[in-house]
Parts: sequence; structure tokens; C-alpha cells
Amino acid sequence: MYGNGSRKDLVLLSKSIDASYIDNQQSFAYHLRYENQSLIHFERQLTCTSVLGIYMKTFVFYLKRLARANKVVYHGRANQPKVALTFDDGPNPTYTPQILELLKQYNVQATFFAIGEHVQAYPQLVRQEYQEGHAVGNHTWTHPHLPEESRDRIQNELSRTSNVIEQATGTKPVLFRPPYGKVNWNVLKQSSQQGMTTILWSVDTLDWDQPSRTMDDIVNRALSEVGNGSILLLHDGGGNRSPTVAALPTIIINLQQRGYQFVTVQQMINHLKHIPR
Ligand SMILES: [Zn+2]
Repeated sequence: MYGNGSRKDLVLLSKSIDASYIDNQQSFAYHLRYENQSLIHFERQLTCTSVLGIYMKTFVFYLKRLARANKVVYHGRANQPKVALTFDDGPNPTYTPQILELLKQYNVQATFFAIGEHVQAYPQLVRQEYQEGHAVGNHTWTHPHLPEESRDRIQNELSRTSNVIEQATGTKPVLFRPPYGKVNWNVLKQSSQQGMTTILWSVDTLDWDQPSRTMDDIVNRALSEVGNGSILLLHDGGGNRSPTVAALPTIIINLQQRGYQFVTVQQMINHLKHIPR
């Protein structure tokens, strides 16, 4: 599928792969961003034989190798009834406290991928997340499309955020989630060099798609797609998160009734490492 804009006479600014696609699908999403900001998005089968196809297959091979080494993680073990709730784009003074309250009420541990400039504004919320037993990960300083940025900017987006999280919690984050699930070689390298595991997801609840998605949509999506080892993508910041907050009790109660145990992404990774798959 091709987006708007002509490819002629335009300077290509960046190419990026949507890493959130790789694990479950035999296709990839590829993005070409041009000087006039037009974005061409297309999806291809991994079997294509063009030069681009070969490049992509090499990159996907590399990603899958990192996934086997647990350096890029999409999900936990498929034979254990453990799931991880993840909340991106906070901390947010309206929604994060409501989500923390619900997690406490249902005795659930989760993972928050915080944006650096929000941590700077609300460090006490991130401290509370950490003190209440949740994992806090790095989600960059300003939430850019990282593959479009220079190596220095990528390095800075990650290191600045890790530093402010460390100031707030006393602990340097070891988990990194790329905005939009978009990565390239530089992003993966920086994440690794700064001591972090790159975390994607296996269930996208689509709660970010506002105002289109209702509470029921989010519940249905989460409960129909979940399975052993699922990492669920949710949001506590970046827009109206009332539907996410409203959906959370139903998701938690249903999954607990089905016998799932809620773990942090860190606990999921420790489990991956200690028991061979
Ligand atoms: Zn995000």
C-alpha cells in the first residue's frame, strides 16, 4: 500500500522498519520519509527478491537473532500463563495516578515506559511507580521517530531519559521501548550500548487510536488477542486515556479469572533467561 506523495524529485530523509510487525507476521512494514514530509508506508512479504527485499530480510534476520538472544523482546514464554501490561507515554498527572490506584487495588505489577521530558515534569509519579513495585523503562526524551534522527540525537534521547529516570527512582532503566515500535541499526545499537533490552509488544490494544476506540474496543482487543507470555501495549499518557483507565479493571479481572499471572517485563525477561525455551 502506497501513501501520498510522489517519489520523484524528493530527497529521501530516512528509511525505517516497524519492528512491531516482525514477530507475528511474515511481512514487514517499511516507511520512507521524504523531504516534503510525505510518508510512504508499505507492507511486503518477506519473500520478495528485490534489493530492498534482500536488505529487509537481512535486517529482519538480525532482529530475530537479537530476539533469540533476548536482546529484543516481543513476548515471554509461550508455555507459561504470564502476561505483562505495559503503559507508554507517561507519566501523566491525570491518568497515571488512576492507573496506579487500579493496579494496587487488583495487586498487579506492570511496566511503565516513560518519556523523559514528562519524567522531568512529574518525577514523583515515576518514583511512585517504582516504589510500588512496577518496572520503569525508557521511552526517549521527546518521542521522535528515532530512525529519522542522527546517531548523536538517538544517543542523547536515550541517555538523557535514563539519567532523569535514575534521578527520580535511584535506578537506571534496563528496558527501552522505541516510539512507534520503529527501529534501525543505530537505535538497536544505542539501546544495547546503554545497557537496555529493546521491548516491543505482542498485543496492541489500539488504545492510542483516539477518539475511535471505546473502552469496549480496548477490552475486546486485549481479551481476544492475549495468550501465554503476551506483552500488552497500553498508554497512560499522550492523549485522552479515559477509555484505557475504564477498560483496565475488566481486562485485569478477566485475565485473573483465566489464570494469568501479571508480571513486569523485567520479570518476564528473567524468566526467559533462566529457563531454556
Ligand atoms: Zn509512545
